[in-house]
Amino acid sequence: MSRADVTAERDRIGGPARATGLPLVGLTLGTDEAWSARFWRWDGQRFERAWCDKVRVVGRRLGVTYNAEKMPPPQRRPTLRRTTDTWGSARQSDLARLRFGVVGLGSVGSMVAEALARIGVEHLVLVDADRVKTHNLDRLLYASEADVGRLKVELAADALRRSATAARLRIDAIAGWIQQEGCYRAALDCDVLFSCVDRPLPKDLLNHIAYTHCIPVVFGGVFVDTKRDGTLGQAAWSVVRSGPGHRCLRCDGQYTTSDVVLERDGSLDDPSYVARLAGGRPMNQNVFPFSANLASLMTLEMLRMVIGASWWPEPGGKLHYSYVPGTLHAVAEPCRNHCEVMARTASGDQTAYPFLVTGPEHLDRSLPSSVGARLLARLRKLSQGLVGGRSS
Ligand SMILES: [Zn+2]
Repeated sequence: MSRADVTAERDRIGGPARATGLPLVGLTLGTDEAWSARFWRWDGQRFERAWCDKVRVVGRRLGVTYNAEKMPPPQRRPTLRRTTDTWGSARQSDLARLRFGVVGLGSVGSMVAEALARIGVEHLVLVDADRVKTHNLDRLLYASEADVGRLKVELAADALRRSATAARLRIDAIAGWIQQEGCYRAALDCDVLFSCVDRPLPKDLLNHIAYTHCIPVVFGGVFVDTKRDGTLGQAAWSVVRSGPGHRCLRCDGQYTTSDVVLERDGSLDDPSYVARLAGGRPMNQNVFPFSANLASLMTLEMLRMVIGASWWPEPGGKLHYSYVPGTLHAVAEPCRNHCEVMARTASGDQTAYPFLVTGPEHLDRSLPSSVGARLLARLRKLSQGLVGGRSS
């Protein structure tokens, strides 16, 4: 920054900024179209400048400028020769320095994380509270019978350290739910998030983060329908990128607000309720090859967003694969009119998540109790209607 830039930012804007009590951040766009950013921190007597590690520009694409002093580009490595030679050193160094969060370390999440470790990513955040169970063994990467009972994030972290091709891979393995404060904060520090969860509440929370905090979320969902005679009816999976410039997960129909309420009030943990929802058929029937294909499509979608800016035409918004009859098509549609999630774009902490952020008591704190109770009752009634009609 020139002396004049510093004077303009620190001395002219600094005073009024202090009066608001809000943080002061300065951004500069260079002639090479690279951004730089810094916080001005008031230490009680003067402003101290603290340079940012990187600046993300989020929209249809993800553009990142790194502060090379704070985050130097990775050295070329023999372990990454094929990867680097495929898309070039500049794109590899853009990709490797991003912080990726994988929420949900089940069959899909563990394969996404494996792909990230293999392509030389340097920082992974893994979030999942679950432990390995016997019925996971036919589809969970790395898991063997000896691992039953282990935390999925620990199992994944140990294996990913062995798979890593970067000079060093930092892994933050967090055993918890995304709706718990520590996990939520860790997600906000990521540059890109992968949603590999099947519950509506974490989906809604990640959808919220994608817009309020401008962190692109690559979402994957599987639908498998087994017929009453026990044969496979249909299997389909979708990859949806939510965040500014894309249709949100809720408008895409990946969950509904009433699903979120049902999860909050415990109905989704009630086996009799879940059995009614599924019409008596077994649910959650994803299998290894379906998960592998979905995890690959999710990773490809992330690559398209981060390093493929000049290669591909504009992404379609959503990729949908139907196993029967075997078609992959892209769908581009905007959010519904007046989408309230889209309206939260870039509002950060100014927009509180309407249901729950860090604990089950949040709804009671954020709404007058009578309003909260009425809302819950109405949505529960609505969802029971849907269950009764088998339309859900
Ligand atoms: Zn929307």
